[in-house]
Amino acid sequence: MKIAVLPGDGIGPEIVAEALKVLQVFRQEGVGLELEMADVGGIAVERHGDPLPAATLALCQASDAVLFGSIGGPKYDTLARHLRPERGLLRLRKKLDLFANLRPAQVFPELVNASTLKPEVVSGLDLMIVRELTGDIYFGEPRGVVHNAQGERVGTNTMIYSDTEIRRVAHWGFQAAQKRRKQLCSVDKMNVLECTQLWRDVVTELAPEYPDVQLTHMLVDNAAMQLVRNPRQFDVIVTGNLFGDILSDEASMLTGSIGMLPSASLNASGLGLYEPIHGSAPDIAGQGIANPLAQILSTAMMFRYSLQRADLADRVEHAVRQVLQSGLRTADLAQPGQGAVSTSQMGDAVAAAVRQQA
Ligand code: NAD
Repeated sequence: MKIAVLPGDGIGPEIVAEALKVLQVFRQEGVGLELEMADVGGIAVERHGDPLPAATLALCQASDAVLFGSIGGPKYDTLARHLRPERGLLRLRKKLDLFANLRPAQVFPELVNASTLKPEVVSGLDLMIVRELTGDIYFGEPRGVVHNAQGERVGTNTMIYSDTEIRRVAHWGFQAAQKRRKQLCSVDKMNVLECTQLWRDVVTELAPEYPDVQLTHMLVDNAAMQLVRNPRQFDVIVTGNLFGDILSDEASMLTGSIGMLPSASLNASGLGLYEPIHGSAPDIAGQGIANPLAQILSTAMMFRYSLQRADLADRVEHAVRQVLQSGLRTADLAQPGQGAVSTSQMGDAVAAAVRQQA
């Protein structure tokens, strides 16, 4: 199993180093993991003049999975748009055709007080958003700002989805639900947007292929409200790129801890890019205090979705729970008066817990 490791910028290299400790435990047990590092983002601009160098792209294309840290930072904000670190990630997603973005949002019992919502609302929360990632209004043409006949500026973006684009991500939604509590909620805005009427029609057409999954539909405005009113009603949500962007951030904050949430972005052949949902956290980079758990949990998703080793995924997730139960907290999770451990202490503890389960 070949894994491309792209640490990136800011806290990326610090937290990827901790995820590698966990992978090292498996390698010592004889699991065949071949790891190769490459530059991406701001560091790649500095070293190669390109946020996605050709060698990095080639490595990712030749790998079974990509373990991605985070990219960006204030020192790159003044670069020309095509050199910005974010452009490297967007190009990588497009080149690898990573159309299905899986974002679980789970509240660990030990961290229930970290949420801004009442414990009785979020306790036990465990949902997954499947967001379409390569289409919709973010890529639709025509787009841009032009002057009309009256000399006024007019901005245009185009919401567009083909049957095929909807179908392939909807399959991911149904299959994710099959592996969980078998409930799929498809989110659209069919009451005003024809494009999303098509979305609803296509998802509905697929339902007979998954008789064990209960399919419901919800308008996006209601879904945004229901996510804070009663988030535990959801198992898997499948939706388009724009709605998914907003709803997945909302869902992640229900858990109250941005440093805990992993994500997977997958293509049709199972190649996936695995990264924490947070950014490069330049405000804490280099201090050794970042929470590495989202990055470590990203490796669990990698084992489950690209490497077909659910047994190893279970071990990583179990180890994280065990370490939280033992009371270890990085600074972002620690309650006032509770001592905090460093990034590497947290990584060491998880790696040790994984090793113990062998
Ligand atoms: P951010 O997610 O980097 O940070 C937001 C806040 O959360 C900060 O206070 C940060 O210290 C904290 N935080 C984030 N991850 C943490 C962790 N693991 N442990 C402890 N605290 C953590 O968002 P931002 O500050 O808006 O963006 C910073 C940079 O990251 C920007 O350049 C942005 O473009 C980039 N970014 C990259 C990605 C990506 O790599 N996929 C995603 C989002 C933002």
